[in-house]
Amino acid sequence: MTASTGKYRLRGTGSIRFGYLLHTNKGIQKFAHVLIAERVLEKSLPPKAVVHHPDENRLNNNNLVICQDAAYHRMIHRRMVAFKVSGHANWRKCWICKTYDNPDRLYISPNGMNIHHKLCNDARKERRNHERSNESV
Ligand SMILES: [Zn+2]
Ligand SMILES: [Zn+2]
Repeated sequence: MTASTGKYRLRGTGSIRFGYLLHTNKGIQKFAHVLIAERVLEKSLPPKAVVHHPDENRLNNNNLVICQDAAYHRMIHRRMVAFKVSGHANWRKCWICKTYDNPDRLYISPNGMNIHHKLCNDARKERRNHERSNESV
């Protein structure tokens, strides 16, 4: 979920830790983005939840995305990189030729770990076979 958090003001003092704003109030230290996320949710963050900074500025807590888990957070980052590089958030990267392409043109394994163009893979196999036949000569 996206939370517009500009209206939240935290009481206490702030310092910077790991590039994030660390908030101290009555001796309790907590990251400001976690405090704000918890205020928006009106409960503690679920144990697996991750707070994402959409503008990649760790100090800007005016806009936060609360991810249900680390996998969802990784997915957001993957889409951000894809969009930056290719202009399409849903495009995936072929690990063989290292270019982004429309998923319709790519082979994507069920676990999503192996993504490549069929042609790239065929060329790779071809190369491997050549290398093998050279070795045996
Ligand atoms: Zn993030
Ligand atoms: Zn490729």
